[in-house]
Amino acid sequence: MLQGNEIFSKNSSRGIGADDRAGVAVLLNTALEILEKNIPSPPLTFLWSVQEEVGLQGVRHASLGMLQNPKLAFNFDGGSPEKLTIGATGGYRMQIKISGLASHAGGAPEKGVSAIAIAGLAIADLQKRGWHGQIIKGRQRGTSNIGVIHGGTATNVIADRVELKAEARSYSKAFRSKIVAQIKTAFSRAAKQVVNTNGHSGQVTFTGQTDYESFRLKQTEPSLQVAKAAVRAMGGNPVPFCSAGGLDANWLTARGIPTVTLGCGQLYQHTCQERLDLPWFHKACSIALYLASGRS
Ligand SMILES: [Zn+2]
Repeated sequence: MLQGNEIFSKNSSRGIGADDRAGVAVLLNTALEILEKNIPSPPLTFLWSVQEEVGLQGVRHASLGMLQNPKLAFNFDGGSPEKLTIGATGGYRMQIKISGLASHAGGAPEKGVSAIAIAGLAIADLQKRGWHGQIIKGRQRGTSNIGVIHGGTATNVIADRVELKAEARSYSKAFRSKIVAQIKTAFSRAAKQVVNTNGHSGQVTFTGQTDYESFRLKQTEPSLQVAKAAVRAMGGNPVPFCSAGGLDANWLTARGIPTVTLGCGQLYQHTCQERLDLPWFHKACSIALYLASGRS
């Protein structure tokens, strides 16, 4: 729905997916403008990557050879087109499986080992000790989140299985590992605290993987210099920024293609109030065309 300068969903329980359809549209518009108006340009490669939100899978596995060795790289994702993301945090995603012992909740509760109780104790422990949500320990910074929890079948059964999904983020690899270690310790410790009358306790297993490594571009990075010049040429004031979220630039940069990310009009991403700011989107389109025409 268009209102004033913004597009948002008619359905108040949905976003519009401007994150990152707006970026897709910026690239498509650039390609079409160049073709339709015969605008001279240096060799260009367009990459529409998939599954950025679920672990940057597209760029992580893209065939680099097909990209034709780009000298400069720009990604469109985010809000203000003047905001140049030159660094981002690294993220680790983990799966936690708790197994307890099922038992009749009314008839023999003392024989059961509740996987839900274990999960509860572990999460409360992390929360209490400042290892869940925003994490500040001295000068170290990071975040963690238990984002998914599944378990239990009925109220009259002691739940013997709970599966959780969690993540940890930090610019510092060492601190991120520490957050992951704290999560593991909290669950392992909680498992020992829930014991049935036979002396049995639960078990916890962990699997996980680094989603993306943190990065920070140098001030002298050619892509950054060119992006700044393009923003200025379109009447903007470039503001370098480091993101607390992962983005395609994490893997592109890690794979040898230093990438600057520019906003393209998204507001309130990942919420039902998500909006697309049209003036920002149009500005991003102008900047992208300027970059693609090789003028800066
Ligand atoms: Zn997103």
